Amino acid sequence: MLTPRQLFLRHQAQTSNFPLLLEIERAEGVWMYGPGGRRYLDLISGIGVSNVGHRHPRVLRAIQDQLDKYLHLMVYGELVQAPPAALAHALHQTLPAELDNVYFTNSGTEAVEGALKLAKRYTGRTELISCLNAYHGSTQGALSVTGSESFKRSFRPLLPDVRHIRYNDATDLAHITERTAAVIVETVQGEGGVRVPANGYLPQLRRRCDEVGALLILDEIQCGFGRTGTFWAFEQFGVVPDILLTAKGMGGGMPIGAFISRQEIMHSFKTDPILGHLTTFGGHPVSCAAALATLQVIQEEQLLAGVAEKAARFRRQLVHPAIRGVRGLGLLMAVEFDSFEVLKPIIDRALEHEGVLTDWFLFCDNSLRLAPPLTITDAEIDEACAALLRAVEHVTDSLV
Ligand code: PMP
Repeated sequence: MLTPRQLFLRHQAQTSNFPLLLEIERAEGVWMYGPGGRRYLDLISGIGVSNVGHRHPRVLRAIQDQLDKYLHLMVYGELVQAPPAALAHALHQTLPAELDNVYFTNSGTEAVEGALKLAKRYTGRTELISCLNAYHGSTQGALSVTGSESFKRSFRPLLPDVRHIRYNDATDLAHITERTAAVIVETVQGEGGVRVPANGYLPQLRRRCDEVGALLILDEIQCGFGRTGTFWAFEQFGVVPDILLTAKGMGGGMPIGAFISRQEIMHSFKTDPILGHLTTFGGHPVSCAAALATLQVIQEEQLLAGVAEKAARFRRQLVHPAIRGVRGLGLLMAVEFDSFEVLKPIIDRALEHEGVLTDWFLFCDNSLRLAPPLTITDAEIDEACAALLRAVEHVTDSLV
């Protein structure tokens, strides 16, 4: 009998020669448990997914209740099913009134795909603008607007008429013109290494889009659903997008995403052609039930209220000569070191000796990713920081 690890390596497609290879049997709250009960403190939430912790009881109950009723019934948008309808309403209530229409997808990248199509269809234009170092997903449309040539080169040709601007650079906004269907921007860049918008940048971007009639798509797939301390990150920057993207943390551990817009815009999918965007599983009732429970947990457990103080608690403790700084917004943080050569052994040491799971970023390999469940307690933060500092100390001692 082959072990799960052997089966994983032999039969599950690999995307690098150095997968983490951590075997997990069970997870609860901020903890994941391996064989023999070894526990790991999860400081990255499955990359921004487990915002309410692993297996939140309320999410489990919502899933269980839905399992007793029905699973998939029909492709998107035909049958009236209470879970997606209730979730669309609950999402709308977290948003400015004009964002009143939700299209459910299975993932983040599919939300991006739907939004790009919607923008092209609604405006009748073709140009798409995105930012350098943005990550928007791995399907071909989302990859086209991802801002890393090394990630894209081998898969070209991708979508035509895509142009990149520098994030946080007001002078580049002049590239947005009457030709532009949409500008897609992460409200806070995630894989770029947690880049927070400069003062006034997003309002300037919003104004430029309005001037030329381009739609503004904000990708909150990583930074939404409470991660930054407000339910949506854009609330902190005085702008409202035309299309908002969410996924990851939305499902409380179940696969789901959405693009959200105004009814007038979303109506474009009804004609020319009819059924302008289709999905079999988007809006799956079990995922929607889990997502509604997740949203309610964030609100009713008042998780947003604790985010800033928890982030400050991390920042106060993560002080060391090897740490060049901590960037971030709320519990989406990047701890910067001199180089990947310093960072990588720290990540390895933290995992192997301290049982603390962290990561780096796709487009920023000198920074450590910190995005714990928002439910993390003060004691767990103190434990995490002490463990990380021990790992930093050990590695920098041995580098000297
Ligand atoms: N946009 C952003 C900002 C992301 O961080 C991600 C995932 N890392 C995606 C889109 C793609 O989401 P998914 O992996 O669910 O397709």
